[in-house]
Amino acid sequence: MKYLLALDQGTTSSRAIVFDREGKVAGVGQRPFEQLFPHPGWVEHRPEDIWNSQLGAVRDALATVGIGPEDIAAIGITNQRETTVVWNRRTGRPIHNAIVWQCRRTADRCDGIRSSLLGAEIQQKTGLVVDAYFSASKIEWLLEQVAGAREAAEAGDLAFGTVDAWLLWNLTGGKVHATDVSNASRTMLCDIRRSAWDDDLLSTFSVPRAMMPEIVPSSGVIGETDPDLFGGAIPIAGIAGDQQAALFGQMCSQPGMAKNTYGTGCFLLVHTGEKACESRNSLLTTVAWKLGDAPVEFALEGSVFIAGAAIQWLRDGLQLIGDAAETEALAKSVPDTGGVSFVPAFVGLGAPYWDPHARGIITGLTRGTTRSHLVRAALEAIAFQTRDIVEAMIGDANDAFSGVFALRELRVDGGAAANDFLMAFQADVLGVPVVRPTVTETTAAGAAYLAGLGVGYWSDLAELRNLWKRDRVFEPTSDETWRAKGYEQWKTAVARAKG
Ligand code: ADP
Repeated sequence: MKYLLALDQGTTSSRAIVFDREGKVAGVGQRPFEQLFPHPGWVEHRPEDIWNSQLGAVRDALATVGIGPEDIAAIGITNQRETTVVWNRRTGRPIHNAIVWQCRRTADRCDGIRSSLLGAEIQQKTGLVVDAYFSASKIEWLLEQVAGAREAAEAGDLAFGTVDAWLLWNLTGGKVHATDVSNASRTMLCDIRRSAWDDDLLSTFSVPRAMMPEIVPSSGVIGETDPDLFGGAIPIAGIAGDQQAALFGQMCSQPGMAKNTYGTGCFLLVHTGEKACESRNSLLTTVAWKLGDAPVEFALEGSVFIAGAAIQWLRDGLQLIGDAAETEALAKSVPDTGGVSFVPAFVGLGAPYWDPHARGIITGLTRGTTRSHLVRAALEAIAFQTRDIVEAMIGDANDAFSGVFALRELRVDGGAAANDFLMAFQADVLGVPVVRPTVTETTAAGAAYLAGLGVGYWSDLAELRNLWKRDRVFEPTSDETWRAKGYEQWKTAVARAKG
C-alpha cells in the first residue's frame, strides 16, 4: 500500500499531509513558524524557517502514520504564492529574508506603474493587476537593497524562487531549480500565454534572466528528494500554488467549474479551459495548471478581503460572540436581518468596486435590532460579497466565451464553509447549488492529486473525479424576486460604504 505526501507550505505554518489511495487523509504534521514585521506594512519569513518547519512537518506526518520513504509514491508541493526568496546557488544560503506576499514595501513603486501605460501592457501579458503582492517588485527591491546582490545575480550566482522553488531546491539537495507554471504566473514576470519569462517584463523590473528558475508543468516528475533527508529518495511529481491546488483538489477541471474558499478572506476561482480570459473587472487571469504535456489551463480569480475576518471582528472587536461557530445558531434564530446590512469594507472594497477609501458600515439599525440580526448580517455579507465576485466573473468569462458561460454549482471549502447557515444562504443568494466535499483539505488534496497523476499512481482525471465526494449539497430555495430584492439592499449599503 503506497501513499502520497502533500507539502502544504502556508503563510503561518508548514503542513504535511499523507493521503491514501482513496484520497483520504491518513496523517498530518504541522509546524508553525515566526512572522517578522520589521516595519509597519512589511512582512518577512526566514527562508530557513520555511524549510525547517516543512521538513519537521514531513517527519511528523510520516511518524504519525508509521511509514517511511519507501511507502510514498510521490510528493506534491503546494505553497503560499508570490512570496519571494533569493539565495546563493553555491552555498544555498538566502541573501535576505523572504518577502511575503502581504508585504507592502514596494506599493509606491507598483502604484506608479499601474497608473501608466505600462500597467495595461503588464496586465495584458501577465493577467495581473500591477501590485506589490506579486514577486517582480520584491525581487527588484532585494537586488537594489542587498549589497552586491545585483552583480552576483548578473554573474549567475543567485537564484530566485517562489516558495515552491525554494522547497524543491532544498528537497533535491540543490539539484533542481524550477517552478511550476501556476506559481510562475504569479510573479508578474511570466507571459502566461507562452508560459515563459518575458524579456520586457524582466527588464522593466531589472531582473537578470540568469536567476530565474526553469518553468515546469504542474504534474509530472520534476526530481527526487536527496536520500539523506528521509532515508530514501522520493519522486517530486506535482506543484501548484495554494489556490490553484484547491481548484484541482475540488476537481474543478472543466470550464465553468468554480470553487470558493471561505477563510479570513475568500478566494474564488473559476476554470476557463485553455483560454486566458481578459478581465474588464480587474479580476486576475491566472494559470490553473499544466498536466504533463497537455496544454496549459487557465482560471479567473477574484478575492474578498474580509470574510471570516468579519466574524473575528464580531468576536474580538465587539465581543458579541465567544466563538465563530456560535454564529450559525444565532443567525438561524431570526427570520432575516430585520433590514440591517453590514458591509465589512474594513480595508476598502475589492472587485468589482475597487475603492480603497471605502470603510465598513452597518445600515438599517432600529430599536428592534438585536445581536442575532447583526451576526446574521455579517454572515450574509460574506455571501453577498461572493455574489459580487461571481457576477464579475461570469461577465468576464461570458465576453470570452460568447455568452455560453454559466455557473452550475459552487464548490466550497475553508473554515467558514463549516457554517450550514452561510452555505444555505449562499445557495439562495446565487441561485445555484453549493457543494461541500467530504475532504475539506482541498489544497493539500490538489497537490497530492497532481503528484499522483504525475507518477501514474492515479491513471487519469476520471479516476480523480471519483475520489472527490460530496458531503452536503445546499440547494437554492429562493425565487428570483427574493434574490433581486436582497441583492439590491446589499448594493444600496455598498454605495453608502464607498469613500
Ligand atoms: P485562514 O486559512 O484564512 O486562516 P480558515 O480556513 O482557517 O482561515 O478559516 C478561519 C476563518 O473562518 C476565521 O476568520 C473564522 O472567523 C471563520 N470561521 C470559522 N468557523 C466559522 C463558522 N462556523 N462560521 C463562520 N465563520 C467561521
